[in-house]
Amino acid sequence: GNITVKDLAEKLSVNSNELIGKLIGLGIMANLNQELDYETTELIAAEYGYAIEEGKTLEEIQEDELDSEDSPESLILRPPVVTVMGHVDHGKTSLLDSIRESHVTEKEAGGITQHIGASTVKINDNKIVFLDTPGHEAFTSMRARGAQVTDIAILVVAADDGVMPQTIEAINHAKAANVPIIVAINKMDKPEANPDRVKQELTEHGLVPEDWGGETITVPVSAINKEGLDELLEMILLVSEMGELKANPNRKAVGTIIEAELDKGRGPVATVLVQKGTLRVSDSIIAGTASGRVRAMIDSQGKRVKKAGPSTAVEILGLSEVPHAGDKLYAVKDDKKARVIADERKEQIKRDQIKSKQNISLDELFNQIKTGEVKDLNIIIKADVQGSIEAVKDALVKLSNEEVKVNPIHGGVGAITETDIMLATASNAIVIGFNVRPTTSASNLADRESVDVRTYRIIYKAIEDIEAAIKGMLDPEY
Ligand code: GDP
Repeated sequence: GNITVKDLAEKLSVNSNELIGKLIGLGIMANLNQELDYETTELIAAEYGYAIEEGKTLEEIQEDELDSEDSPESLILRPPVVTVMGHVDHGKTSLLDSIRESHVTEKEAGGITQHIGASTVKINDNKIVFLDTPGHEAFTSMRARGAQVTDIAILVVAADDGVMPQTIEAINHAKAANVPIIVAINKMDKPEANPDRVKQELTEHGLVPEDWGGETITVPVSAINKEGLDELLEMILLVSEMGELKANPNRKAVGTIIEAELDKGRGPVATVLVQKGTLRVSDSIIAGTASGRVRAMIDSQGKRVKKAGPSTAVEILGLSEVPHAGDKLYAVKDDKKARVIADERKEQIKRDQIKSKQNISLDELFNQIKTGEVKDLNIIIKADVQGSIEAVKDALVKLSNEEVKVNPIHGGVGAITETDIMLATASNAIVIGFNVRPTTSASNLADRESVDVRTYRIIYKAIEDIEAAIKGMLDPEY
């Protein structure tokens, strides 16, 4: 039915006089108890960042407007974008360095390879883009901002050390993002290297190697001796072909910020990975709350370029402020349009500081199940011992019913960390801890991102809570 001005003001949590002012601006002489028709309600709600029907945010509404669908005929193949993940000291950085040293196209005379956050490797006529910041933390923090830039994850596992806790984290983070994994079994030059043990351990975590009858591609490599690199790159291209990665180069650019900083001489500098369309010098752009015009673009070899197509990373100058890694970048019609969108977003942020973004919480689970908003309840389990993780996982999965599937996306031993909270944000998950607590920084991040973190001492208490939430019988927490 129709809603009164007073109720709408309450729903949007804005002052009713302000709302009346807006309505007058639209030519509607309104008073507090006046009922508004649907169209007007929708218009006003959109101004405050809400869509009535689908519960979309302002950013989503703007993105719908900025990002049009491409027709299938307009799409052509694009290079894959790869992230390197794995346990600390297993050789992520060394592997990236060796690939760059041996495969990046020869530099211009006197030119220096410039760090811009991504490098492009050329193999015959094919290209692969490597993101330069290794690790699943960077990957997931981008995803927590809604950005998905990685097409393929390279999981580095040291052959002398095997699968370790961060290897498992990386596997689960890649799986949660639905990104295919290729395993590089590194340090094969070491006498203690034991690739069979690595394969055995991978199997235990759901990655069954191809030569063991499974589907996971594993490649033995040595980053130090530069062995196996060609095979690894070939496998990346193979997986990329199977994924049919495509984009339309002939449209306004859409991309994602992968790095950004304030440079003393040059002002805000950002590296953008162009994902669709072609970005050109002098295009008007918007990224997060930064707007402006592309003043110059520099590629990974320090060369100035005039345009950048899909799967190209370029450093850009000309933004009004420093955007965040993970912000989407759009080329728009003109500077004015870019500025208007940026201003709308700034206003929205001010309002959001009052009402923070809601991730899923157990208290609200039942309502969300009823309205069909959740079908999967994603759960991250942290515990003091591995045995508890398995026990909770099994018990929780059994709680699944027709309405909701309980889905453990990650389990690990140790305190609840910022990485866990980021994964929870990126995957709309709740975090459960047994005999472990969040670190202070994880706690703060969870508050900011409204991630529901619950700690328990007894397993059945957790199971009881989740069961009650699914059935709508959870006692509200105050
Ligand atoms: P990251 O923490 O995963 O980025 O690991 P690094 O690339 O920093 O490597 C950790 C250590 O392992 C360094 O001392 C490297 O020299 C060494 N390392 C990396 N790759 C290899 C390899 O293929 N063989 C051997 N023997 N050592 C390696």
